[in-house]
Amino acid sequence: MPVETAPQTTAQERLYSVCDYYDAESLLTDGERKVLGRLREFLDTQARPLLADYWERGEFPDQLARPLIDLDLMEPAELTGVPGAGQTPARGIYQGFRIFELARTDASLATWYTAQAGLFRTAIRVGASAEQQADWMPRVIDFSLKGVFSLTEPESGSDIAGGLATTARREKGCEAGPDGDTWVLDGAKRWIGGAATADVLAVFARDVADGQVKAFLVDREAAGVTLEKIHGKTALRMMQNAHITLDGVRVPEARRLHNVNSFRDVAAMLRAMRSDVAWIAAGIAAGAFEAALRYVSGRRQFGRPLASFQLVQEKLARMLGNVTSALSLVVRLTEQQEKGIYRDQDSALAKMQTSLLMRETVALAREVVGGNGIMLAADVARFHADAEAVYSYEGTHEINALIVGRALTGHSAFTH
Ligand SMILES: Cc1cc2nc3c(=O)[nH]c(=O)nc-3n(C[C@H](O)[C@H](O)[C@H](O)COP(=O)(O)OP(=O)(O)OC[C@H]3O[C@@H](n4cnc5c(N)ncnc54)[C@H](O)[C@@H]3O)c2cc1C
Repeated sequence: MPVETAPQTTAQERLYSVCDYYDAESLLTDGERKVLGRLREFLDTQARPLLADYWERGEFPDQLARPLIDLDLMEPAELTGVPGAGQTPARGIYQGFRIFELARTDASLATWYTAQAGLFRTAIRVGASAEQQADWMPRVIDFSLKGVFSLTEPESGSDIAGGLATTARREKGCEAGPDGDTWVLDGAKRWIGGAATADVLAVFARDVADGQVKAFLVDREAAGVTLEKIHGKTALRMMQNAHITLDGVRVPEARRLHNVNSFRDVAAMLRAMRSDVAWIAAGIAAGAFEAALRYVSGRRQFGRPLASFQLVQEKLARMLGNVTSALSLVVRLTEQQEKGIYRDQDSALAKMQTSLLMRETVALAREVVGGNGIMLAADVARFHADAEAVYSYEGTHEINALIVGRALTGHSAFTH
């Protein structure tokens, strides 16, 4: 009987010939690979030369934003056939590799893009009513409505479900004055990525009337909104994070996300977003591994290339094993989600495990590069530092482990 084999991409045409050992890339169509190739070329020629300098200065290279948006990556017309409309969404595997490609170059660039394409888009997709989506989604996809996800607070990170303290008070009738049906928000948000350049902030607040969490699109420049840049970060230095204060901020009822009526709806968003972070972790591991491999292939000690030493090769093999495991995890998770299977524990497991694999990989990469491993010029230092933020955001290791543990045992080990 003839044995059927999956179509293999040839090494020559492959985008990921070094880090994708089991050819997950063969799951992409030629059209998808073409779009990713365009992204690769942009990152290599326009972005890569700027990274070390902007990372050291703690600034985002704003000049990359417009050209990156113009690459039309979110719902590429050539893949969906409908410019900007997102009627036939691009396949999950393409979206995953898009994140992988960005993160393999730089974690801040991946986080910046995913703030819009993942966090904010998911907030609208899950939280907005059909009418609101019809109005906003096309503008989310073409970035003409830029938004951020404002959930974490100064006093609540892991325990945000119970601890969320920002309040929303509804004013109706004469109480609302000339604004009509309006909400008034008070509180503070911490760590919000990309807030300074967003048009709107998706703010989660607790309704004082029923105690439930609701969500609002707040104009960044609305009266009562104050943004402060968070200085002194040792990870993701290019990504700009803000501390936001909301002091009597008025938001019309029409700007409330009508499908968010409790924290359960927020949890549905987190479930979808965590798989993006797992792809980011896989991409960072791949980028660090490739940079380390380049370095040890070029540098000589004891009259031989570093790459020829047994102990160095063992570390290279472990790094490749980690990258291959991480990629296999995210590819399978994405396949499940494409079938409509979304479970908290699935994305929590992938985020937890890919982050562990990433953390070991960036440490090994830094190690084999020796002293130059702490220099931005050799690339691995940036990945090594940035991985720490990814390890902690969108659910720390412990919180994701507890979500998996709850599913495994039936016992919730969270306290509240
Ligand atoms: C760079 C960066 C970007 C971010 N971007 C955003 C954003 O755009 N929007 C947004 O809303 N948020 C954002 N965040 C916030 C992020 O999601 C939180 O940092 C994260 O949820 C962890 O919360 P925390 O930092 O307050 O840590 P804490 O909750 O204070 O946790 C501290 C430590 O205690 C552990 N811990 C807590 N509870 C338990 C428990 N029950 N059992 C065992 N261990 C426990 C944690 O695992 C962790 O190790 C960002 C964070 C960073 C660092």
